[in-house]
Amino acid sequence: MTDPVQNAPREPIPAEVVIIGAGPVGLFQIFELGLLGMHAHIIDSLAQVGGQCTELYPEKPIYDIPALPICGAQELIDRLMEQAKPFNATFHLGEEVTEVQRQADGKIKVGTSAGRLLLAGAVVIAGGVGSFQPRRLSVPGIEALEGKHVHYRVKAAVDFHGKQLVICGGGDSALDWTVALADTARSLTLVHRRAEFRAAPATVARMRELVAAGKVQFVEGNVVAHHVANEDLVRVEVQGPDGENLHVPADKLLAFFGLHPKLGPIAEWGLELERKALKVDTEKFQTSEPGIFAIGDINTYPGKKKLILSGFHEAALAAFAIQLHLNPGKRQFLQYTTTSPIMQKRLGVASVAEH
Ligand SMILES: Cc1cc2nc3c(=O)[nH]c(=O)nc-3n(C[C@H](O)[C@H](O)[C@H](O)COP(=O)(O)OP(=O)(O)OC[C@H]3O[C@@H](n4cnc5c(N)ncnc54)[C@H](O)[C@@H]3O)c2cc1C
Repeated sequence: MTDPVQNAPREPIPAEVVIIGAGPVGLFQIFELGLLGMHAHIIDSLAQVGGQCTELYPEKPIYDIPALPICGAQELIDRLMEQAKPFNATFHLGEEVTEVQRQADGKIKVGTSAGRLLLAGAVVIAGGVGSFQPRRLSVPGIEALEGKHVHYRVKAAVDFHGKQLVICGGGDSALDWTVALADTARSLTLVHRRAEFRAAPATVARMRELVAAGKVQFVEGNVVAHHVANEDLVRVEVQGPDGENLHVPADKLLAFFGLHPKLGPIAEWGLELERKALKVDTEKFQTSEPGIFAIGDINTYPGKKKLILSGFHEAALAAFAIQLHLNPGKRQFLQYTTTSPIMQKRLGVASVAEH
């Protein structure tokens, strides 16, 4: 496979600070940097912000965020986005950071899977448990069809219109797309290893109606093989609970088996690791490489607790350390948002405070 980072045109973007990971802790880092007058670019491999909160438990209530006795996980992310808004961070979503490398001039080169290149004064890794990757089909040779005939997410629904579609999975994504694409596909077969589904009951009920109406075919089993003609997918074989293989015509296969976090490229940037986490000090939350900081679930130090509130504290201290890193020797002042005119100006609340 070609490496898009090597082949894409690479116009480097100068950046004061680059944050890797837009989970709750990365989002709060935008705010803490902004209060001290620094601008951030923030990159996440997912198409949306929120990290584990959005990806794994958006509906669940969180009870241990200070001053919020109860807060939905997605609500927390929405609030963090609102709080970070005055600082106009630049978001690069759906791009995995694949390389982080110090340059001769001390700047840090950050490269993404989309071929984007940034030259940063400082980097904050807020990568959590790693970047979320789709669980892939374990069918020999099927990876060669990824992107053209085999997909793990829908970028544009129109790509699937008029197609002989096979959708694999039994959760919300599989069922949502089955319902959404049933009317426009030439044929649609839903394949799941059992007849029970983990999706919202209303969506399951709608899917069953579509099956009853003959718009969707449901096959219990697993895709075990695929057949290609002239490099195009033509059908898949589904092994049922009886061990028999059923041949299903298919020119597009969508698989939704959930996501799993992978430390991925972070492990290859030459930073000191301890049990898959980045070692940091507790004064600056700096890694073994000056100018590269790590906060949130990705870091480790004596007494580390993987909690959102610990990550918030780490983001505050890292912001001070980054300010010093970018302006060595300059005196730092602790200012309160309640009373600091410059912070209020940055927050865009100066006029409110004057009243
Ligand atoms: C079910 C559940 C319930 C929880 N409940 C609580 C609770 O009640 N209270 C609490 O304090 N904590 C709770 N947690 C833990 C909490 O969610 C984590 O501590 C928190 O999400 C960590 O935030 P983070 O920003 O460090 O990382 P994450 O939320 O993991 O976000 C990291 C982001 O970095 C991105 N990323 C990683 N590598 C790359 C890369 N190379 N390029 C681009 N992007 C990358 C990932 O895609 C991800 O979006 C819970 C966790 C789970 C799973």
